[in-house]
Amino acid sequence: MVKINLGGIVPFSTIDWRGKAAMVIFLRGCPLRCMYCQNYNLLEGTHYVEMEELEEEILKNEDFIDAVVLSGGEPFMQPHALEAISHCAKKHSLFVAVQTNGFYPAIIKSMLKRKLIDKILLDIKAPLLDERLYENLTTVAGVAGGVKNTLDVCIHASIDLELVTTVFKNLVGSEEVKRIAKDIEEAGAAGCPYVIQQGRAEHVLDKAIKEDDMFSHEELKELAAGAYHAADLKEVRIRTREGGEEVIYRRS
Ligand code: SF4
Repeated sequence: MVKINLGGIVPFSTIDWRGKAAMVIFLRGCPLRCMYCQNYNLLEGTHYVEMEELEEEILKNEDFIDAVVLSGGEPFMQPHALEAISHCAKKHSLFVAVQTNGFYPAIIKSMLKRKLIDKILLDIKAPLLDERLYENLTTVAGVAGGVKNTLDVCIHASIDLELVTTVFKNLVGSEEVKRIAKDIEEAGAAGCPYVIQQGRAEHVLDKAIKEDDMFSHEELKELAAGAYHAADLKEVRIRTREGGEEVIYRRS
């Protein structure tokens, strides 16, 4: 029986998969150490549960949800757990989405091939050719290349894909968002929704990010305009504390 290193469960969410009611399952462990991580309490440590236990939790909510969203940490760090959860979800006719930092393209490719996942929510933390910024943000070398490969794998698999960038002033702002938009277009993912997410200071470890580093709702709309005009993206959204998730631009 597969054991799952579990970080926590949110039984019901309508914000993690736009248009679906989902149970969000957080898996422990992540190969990165992003300076703005909000879930640093999940990066290490162990809390193993049996798949049967998790299935009971899914069953309790089965009537209210359409989907299971795997988050973390980095879910693909536990491929066997992810696979077991996916099989369980599908047994109960639930869709499966995974929020990922894109660090494990080969594992993602294998799982997409076996149709274990219905949607990928992929972080693009920085422009994909900017290894140095990626390394500054994540404190790990060589991440951008893996994310680029993951993006290619997802496009090739024609999976439902959403791309997400978390922004902070003086770190990932207007110029970076425009370059990411171009990267997305060049990779052939212009048809996927691009979400610019307000980076939040409140849960960051050791106050590495301050309130002043946060973009306001209006500033995020400006970032969305920059992304939309820099590349031929089909849809640009923003996600903020004030307004939730909003579509700012959509081409017909
Ligand atoms: S990839 Fe996500 S979970 Fe991992 S350190 Fe970065 S922000 Fe935290």
